[in-house]
This record gives sequence, structure tokens and C-alpha cells, in this order.
Amino acid sequence: MIPCLLTFDVEDWFQVENLRAVFSPACWETIPRRVAESTRVILRLLAESEIRSTFFILGWVAEREPELVREIAKGGHEIASHGYGHVLPMQLTPVQFRDDVIRARKVLEDVSGREIVGYRAPSFSIDRERLAILAGCGFRYDSSRHPFSIHDRYARLGNLGPPVVPGLYRLDGRMVELELPVERMGVLALPVSGGGYFRLYPAALFRKLVSRAIAHRGYYVMYLHSWEFDPAQPRVHGAGLARSVRHYINLSRTLSRMRELIAMLKRQGACFATAREFIEGVLPSEAMLRERAPCAESSASSA
Ligand SMILES: [Zn+2]
Repeated sequence: MIPCLLTFDVEDWFQVENLRAVFSPACWETIPRRVAESTRVILRLLAESEIRSTFFILGWVAEREPELVREIAKGGHEIASHGYGHVLPMQLTPVQFRDDVIRARKVLEDVSGREIVGYRAPSFSIDRERLAILAGCGFRYDSSRHPFSIHDRYARLGNLGPPVVPGLYRLDGRMVELELPVERMGVLALPVSGGGYFRLYPAALFRKLVSRAIAHRGYYVMYLHSWEFDPAQPRVHGAGLARSVRHYINLSRTLSRMRELIAMLKRQGACFATAREFIEGVLPSEAMLRERAPCAESSASSA
């Protein structure tokens, strides 16, 4: 059986970094939300495919759509954190970052009744200092390492030492890093984990790269966003050509391509799991329900 982790970042279409020049956080409240319906498309797909996944949910969304979070949890999926306000962690001071992740986790835990142990940074924007903050706050894993060096926002975490298995790193014995895969074709390193690349590449090429990633790693991790399942979302101008293409390209094909990918993974013997289940399976000593570190209060409330 091949462990396959389908993960989803739950955020609304207007909250993404590619459209930040058009929609500042100050105006989010005035824009009709579409995130619940787009996420329910994913939930229906997973239910019909009998797949459980990990959802990295924005705290801002969880506050406004608590029923959606409960639906995700009820479906047997893992609830994890995508931070609160989708500000890139590398644009936050360490103190601001700590407050952001603690605020988001409290919302998610209050709404879902589940313990939150996983985190993914918006736009994979993270560094070692912020990973240490996550560990200090009691998170048990991060999945923000995306080693695609061409992209202008993806963090460079440097050498994390030898992996436990390819793409999975133990960080100072307290936390683990689950990397998103890339595949090398000659001098090119091609992301094969989803997002805009899933919509941009020809579908057959993407599936071929996924098969190669599985052959190299023995498992597969991918990510998509809620808004990628919403082809009817409004089209806006002003974000710039490259950012608009990244956001809007082939949105109408996400769902059908995902069905095809799931069918291919099942033919190859996929065993679909949450990120937490996979990590605990590889590292059974890393019981993730361990008592939380004492810094679970925000710096604002402890000041
Ligand atoms: Zn995001």
C-alpha cells in the first residue's frame, strides 16, 4: 500500500497572496464568502471516494464558518492550522507570528473540539526561527517546506539533516517537517504536489510526475485550496498578469483532474491517510497527543 496524503488549505478566493494588491484584509469582511461551498465540493469528492484528508484551515474562516469546520471534522478528516489572517509568516515579526498561530489554533480547537497539532504556512513562507516558535507552542508537525527554488515566496529552510524517510524530517526531537515533493527532470525541479502546478501542467504529465514521486519516496503528498474548486468565482483585474494566471488558470478543470488523479492513485494501491496518521505511522514514538508546551497563551494576554 502506498500512503497518499491529500491535503487542503481552506481559505477564500480573495484571501490569497496573488490577489493581495486587489483585496487588503481590511476589506475581506465586505466580500461575499464562497469558501464554505467550495470546501463542500471537496468534502463530497472525498466522501464518494471514501478518503480522509487533512484540512489546514484559516482561523479567520473558522470564526465565520464554524459549521464548515465541524462538517470537516465530522467527515473524519484532520483539522490543522493555516494560521489566522493569511499574512505571510516572513512578513510578521516573531511575536506577531506567535500570536497569529496561537489565535488560529484557539479558534480551531474551540470550534472543532479537536486538538490541533499540524500547521502549514501561507505561501509556504517560513524559516527555522518560526518553526522553533511552532514547536514551542506545542505544534507537532509543520508542512510548509516546498523546495521549489524558483518561486519568489517559498521559504528556504536550509539543510534539515538526514530525513527519517524521504521528505520527512525530525526537528530537534520535538517536531517534524513534512515536505511537499518536487521531481527532477534534467536540470528542472518540478513541483508535483498540487496547487497552481496541478492546474497548469497537462494532466497526463502531472500524473506521470506523481508516479515518479511515488517511486522515489514510497508515498505521496499533495495540496490544493478550497477556491481551486470554485470555477465560478469572480474575475478581478489589477493583480498583474503573472499573479492572475497563477490564480485563475484552469480552475474549471480542478475537480475532474482530481477525480482522475484519485482513480490513478487507487489503481496504484493508494492508502489514503491524514498527515498526522502518516507521521505517527512512520514515527510511532512521536505520540502527538502529548501535553502541550507551556507557552500556549498569546503574548498579548500574558503581557
Ligand atoms: Zn493559503
